[in-house]
Amino acid sequence: MNDTRVPILLPLPFPGPFDYAVPEGTFVEPGNVVRVPLGPRTALGVVWDASDSANTVDSSKLKPINQVLPTRPLPEFHRKFIDWVARYNLCAPGAVLRMSLTAPEGLLPPSSERWVRLAPDQTPPTGYRTTPARTKIINALSNAPEQAMRRKAVVDAAGTSTSVLDGLIKSGLVEAFERRPQGRWPVPKLRRETFSLNDAQQDAADHLVEALRDGFSVSLIDGVTGSGKTEVYFDVIDRLLADPDHKGQILVMLPEIALTGQWLSRFKQRFGCAPALWHSDLTPKMRSETWRAVSEGEARVVVGARSALYLPFRDLGLIVLDEEHDGSFKQDEGVTYQARDMAVVRANIAKCPIVLASATPSLETVLNTLEGRYKRMILPSRHGGAVLPDVSLINLREDRPERGSWLSPALIAAVEQRLEAGQQTLLFLNRRGYAPLTLCNACGHRYKCPSCDSWLTEHRLARRLVCHHCGFQTKATTSCTVCGEEDSLVACGPGVERVGEEAMRRFPHARIAIGSSDTMQRSSVRDMIEAVERGDVDILVGTQILAKGYHFPNLTLVGVVDADLSLYGGDVRAGEKTFQLLHQVAGRAGRGEIRGEVMLQTHEPDHPVMQALISDDRDAFYETELAQREMMALPPYGRLAAVVISDPEEDRLDTFCRDLVQRQPRNDEDIQGIKVFGPAAAPISVIRGRHRRRFLVRGTPGVRLQPFITKWLKGIKTPGALRLTVDIDPYSFL
Ligand code: ADP
Ligand code: ZN
Repeated sequence: MNDTRVPILLPLPFPGPFDYAVPEGTFVEPGNVVRVPLGPRTALGVVWDASDSANTVDSSKLKPINQVLPTRPLPEFHRKFIDWVARYNLCAPGAVLRMSLTAPEGLLPPSSERWVRLAPDQTPPTGYRTTPARTKIINALSNAPEQAMRRKAVVDAAGTSTSVLDGLIKSGLVEAFERRPQGRWPVPKLRRETFSLNDAQQDAADHLVEALRDGFSVSLIDGVTGSGKTEVYFDVIDRLLADPDHKGQILVMLPEIALTGQWLSRFKQRFGCAPALWHSDLTPKMRSETWRAVSEGEARVVVGARSALYLPFRDLGLIVLDEEHDGSFKQDEGVTYQARDMAVVRANIAKCPIVLASATPSLETVLNTLEGRYKRMILPSRHGGAVLPDVSLINLREDRPERGSWLSPALIAAVEQRLEAGQQTLLFLNRRGYAPLTLCNACGHRYKCPSCDSWLTEHRLARRLVCHHCGFQTKATTSCTVCGEEDSLVACGPGVERVGEEAMRRFPHARIAIGSSDTMQRSSVRDMIEAVERGDVDILVGTQILAKGYHFPNLTLVGVVDADLSLYGGDVRAGEKTFQLLHQVAGRAGRGEIRGEVMLQTHEPDHPVMQALISDDRDAFYETELAQREMMALPPYGRLAAVVISDPEEDRLDTFCRDLVQRQPRNDEDIQGIKVFGPAAAPISVIRGRHRRRFLVRGTPGVRLQPFITKWLKGIKTPGALRLTVDIDPYSFL
């Protein structure tokens, strides 16, 4: 393309690309990353594809492109993907592009490294003096491959200073040169010597490899925890990498939390090298290097959380998305999207297969397999005959914990048994902190967040009261801040810290560790996991951070302190999510030789979720859930979208909402199959000082909501600080 004008998409929330002039002698093609003037500054942008929308600015008034960056153009399948995500989620394409350009240094050519090598001629010049330090450097280089090393490496190896090295370079015995960093992205190769898949696994892997030949397809590996789903996709990955006809890259997506320790060590152990890793904690340097390696196609296997979806793959050959039901694949803030669904779209556009894996697939995926759109491979049992744990309910109405305690006598007895037998226990409660509510016994004051409609959670270890919605924190005091009474504050309800405290009281000789996401950095999670693996922990008390994917052979008991916690609260997926979470937690028990036991403390022993868990009849539960959702035209049958409006000023918010109701399209053809609920105060009606209202738009099966919402919100002006966000396929109903 060498027109005089081209559309440039900027990584900013504008409705679309802007035209810029192409200076004479400059060659650009779609996908090129460029620098362009924007107001008084310059901005990065990407040459976009010509669109139908006629750009009205006169050619002579266009600003010229400043610079074309020497980076590989974003491939067409990537640009199409960005447009698709923007259209589907009703957000600005530039906001999506921005997620692809998160490592600016990665756009520049790699900096080369400084190396030294022995000069071919080793005759010392006149006046040269041999010193022990110089000899050490010469020796180190003589022993190195190609007699060359990085500057820093040779100085370190010889234990000398850089000035000794510089002296040698001056003498001509050593030469300095520059070299592009290389070999950092080896192609992983599976170590098969000590390992073979069992029949069901082999079958699944063979089917998948078969499916990989046909371009786009979606497959689900459906198997209980421990059945070897990971081993199956490792095998498939390896066969792809070994196939000389397959040059594509492989993206493995995991929930953020699973990117710690165990999965990666296992990958390294099985493949002999680490994959390229993409997550929020990377150093800026690693980000840039990884971004570039993905863009150049050097990184063949990339593992990341949902943001890895927007990496600039040169050639995508396979996507694997593990724990596909996991709620963290949905991004709720900024550009909202469901990464699992977008991954399927990405695979479709790239014409490559995608493999989903889960022990408790989402109902969306289950329905897709039932209706034949997705293939399904079933791994029926745990590898090596390890049996699934025995799940039982503890009815809290009958088997009551003592006052001020949370562990029922039956659970306590079971823990004691494990302690005697030298086995490990996990006590699970999905609530961070010490207690979800603090109140004053003297005046009745309840500690509330100043800017949200929510109680402050006490975090006793940190001596703070914390809002879990906005992060507000204040020091925990011993006297009431309202009436001044000393020691009058009481904690209500349990969090993990409090259950940990009870465990320490009841089992004074046990070694107890408490783990929850706010007390733990990525590294300390790893430390804790390793301590459990070494057998240095008897009782692990934790939140969902410990529920995922870990494999502890000596952990034989899981006690769920409050199984009902997520069962209520206006979320259409509450039952499904509770089932998935508890099933996953239960899967931590008995992954070794000894059969595991799971005890669920509940006030609702008859609830279908609890019944499904004890009878281990997942499919019956799914069937009932599906039937109910179908009846109510809820996902995965019907579609939902949320329009959430927030404003610090409640009156203005209500006026705006009334106006929105007025503006709803009413033509028959616009509202066919669509129903709008609301406005209603959102369940947490104030967050960060902003009042919140929500409309819920529901479409019957097959009806797209986007055209309706676009028409509804077209040309709308949001006054002052009022904010309006659209969330297609919402998962959070707070
Ligand atoms: P999933 O991903 O379904 O939870 P994994 O792949 O993590 O299951 O397997 C569970 C455990 O069983 C792992 O430690 C794994 O190495 C082991 N395993 C699975 N399949 C085999 C096999 N065919 N041979 C030996 N060990 C296996
Ligand atoms: Zn708050």
